Amino acid sequence: MHPHVKHLVELQAVDIRLNDVRARLAAFPKLLAEVNGRVDAARVHLAQAKDALTKSLKDRKTFEMDVDQWKEKVRKYRDQTGSVKTNEAYKALLHEIELAEKEIAAAEDRLLERMVAGEEFVRQVKAEEKALAEIEAAAKVDQQTISAQYAAAEKERVALEAERKQAVVDVPADLLDMYQKLATRHGGVALAEVKEDESCSMCRVRVRPHTYQLLRDPKNEQIFHCETCTRILYCPPEPAAQPQAVAQSAESSET
Ligand SMILES: [Zn+2]
Repeated sequence: MHPHVKHLVELQAVDIRLNDVRARLAAFPKLLAEVNGRVDAARVHLAQAKDALTKSLKDRKTFEMDVDQWKEKVRKYRDQTGSVKTNEAYKALLHEIELAEKEIAAAEDRLLERMVAGEEFVRQVKAEEKALAEIEAAAKVDQQTISAQYAAAEKERVALEAERKQAVVDVPADLLDMYQKLATRHGGVALAEVKEDESCSMCRVRVRPHTYQLLRDPKNEQIFHCETCTRILYCPPEPAAQPQAVAQSAESSET
């Protein structure tokens, strides 16, 4: 393999990991926002339940006042009965009292209804408070997990950036520039391996037999591009059978 291309292959491996870790880092704000969104929603539910309870208590006060006002009227009418002069006026007063007592009964019914409903509002507030506490506790755990994952990814990114700096040291500037342009154009992948069937692994189009031959020549000093996708082509070196044999003999000598 061309020595510069060999460095590019190493660089490509680092860049793929770097792009992956950068994408993961970029996704963290959204993950955190989702967790915070769950807590915010639970807070809104609790506030709504509290508002409903407050309104219910206010209504209850109003209905209590209604009852009191009608009772007060009845009291006044009764006081007046002692001082009426005519039978007609007395009857009229009794009629007023009867009507007012009906109003009292109706107001007391409304008040009772409101008191029963009020218990339900109290239950709702308690349920929403419990839900919020649970969601907040779960969110705290999630936030800690996310923070830990973020810190790990950030550490990985710093390590990879350092690895990348090392990987580009031996790559000539113009070749690195070409690599960057191709990477930008091709979603971060500037290089393409040529498979045994002599095709570009990225676009699947076959390379010329002559190109393939040169790519496999260890003494080749030319850089080739895929004629279809324009990526820089390379053939991985032949896997050496030697290390496996050594490993096997080491294994058998141990036993
Ligand atoms: Zn190609």
